[in-house]
Amino acid sequence: MSEDPKTWEAATRLVRGGTMRSAFNETSEALYLTQGFVYDSAESAVARFSGEEPGYVYSRFANPTVEMFEQRLALLEGAPACRAMATGMAAVNAALMGLVRAGDHLVAGRALFGSCRWLVAEWLPRFGVETTFVDATDLKAWENAMRPNTKAVLIETPANPLLEVTDIAEVSKLAHAVGAKVIVDNVFATPIFQKPLELGADLVVYSATKHIDGQGRVLGGAVLGSQELMDEALRDMLRHTGPSLSPFNAWVLLKGLETLDLRVRRQTETATVLADLIADHAKTQRSFYPFRKDHPQYEVAIKQMSGGGSLLAFDLGSRQAAFNFLNALEIVDISNNLGDAKSMATHPPTTTHRSVPEEERLAIGVTEGTVRLSVGLEGAGDLIRDVSRALDAA
Ligand SMILES: *Cc1c(COP(=O)(O)O)cnc(C)c1O
Repeated sequence: MSEDPKTWEAATRLVRGGTMRSAFNETSEALYLTQGFVYDSAESAVARFSGEEPGYVYSRFANPTVEMFEQRLALLEGAPACRAMATGMAAVNAALMGLVRAGDHLVAGRALFGSCRWLVAEWLPRFGVETTFVDATDLKAWENAMRPNTKAVLIETPANPLLEVTDIAEVSKLAHAVGAKVIVDNVFATPIFQKPLELGADLVVYSATKHIDGQGRVLGGAVLGSQELMDEALRDMLRHTGPSLSPFNAWVLLKGLETLDLRVRRQTETATVLADLIADHAKTQRSFYPFRKDHPQYEVAIKQMSGGGSLLAFDLGSRQAAFNFLNALEIVDISNNLGDAKSMATHPPTTTHRSVPEEERLAIGVTEGTVRLSVGLEGAGDLIRDVSRALDAA
């Protein structure tokens, strides 16, 4: 075959990348639902275990269906290496644990997905790793937070739930100046609209539960980066701690990737229309969408992203107004998931961010009137009608 998959467009990579056909030449990728593998001889088992003979040993280490998912995602990201994991949090945990040890320091944006925040604020200190939280939109704050023992930097951009945007290229320069590695949680932008590795990041993490599945079925996660860093920071830890993705879930996610480009582009088209509608409505006090000119980091967003994404957030002024909005929706579901084919709205201060102390919540702008909307694949006209009616009711 003379075609190099690396020259393909994203849509082609997503349908064809990583496919390994079995001896039966199936059209759709096979689901290898197996824990282990057998060897032709005792000598062959020795060679497999020592790594001299290529092939699978045990699905905690590698599995053909999981590997097809990893290769397809790596090809889309333009990353040399990818490891899939059971959930997005397993991926964030692995990336962090792989980079730091006792005595090290970490810098993270203060607006983070709830469990990422817990991991960094509550869990890592148990192992002697200290974190400085910064206003992720303030480059001076990032610079001031760096120390000689800073080993990793965690960026979530756009961040949950108000879609704050961090300049990946500039923060990467500041981190690299003290020898720290940069991890970017790229869930909100998706691999379709943002390529952190090209901007200078060292590791990219995904919750595949979100847009990559995109149909509300399975949990999954992934870490991507250079072969060298992935081998050094993650390989042995993953083998021996076992956050492995089930082959069944890998198969679902592999098929999810086939339509990722289509879905995310359509969801973003509708989100763009809804963002304007929401911003212009009298009940809206503030609204946030990275590709609207009134977004505080609009310039950074258009520099590093090629699309605004499927999420938006807005402030209706009070908890009651936010609840009135949610309760008046007839098509959009009240749910905390995101990236799904079904549109979903949530009230972060009483759900996803309820464990964040009120003072910190307000510091990151998550007021009582905040609503986050994940735009799905329903017809735009129906969503416009549903959201308009709910805004009127707020
Ligand atoms: C959902 C999410 C995670 C965690 O992913 P799970 O698959 O739920 O474990 C991490 N980061 C961000 C930004 C997310 O949206």
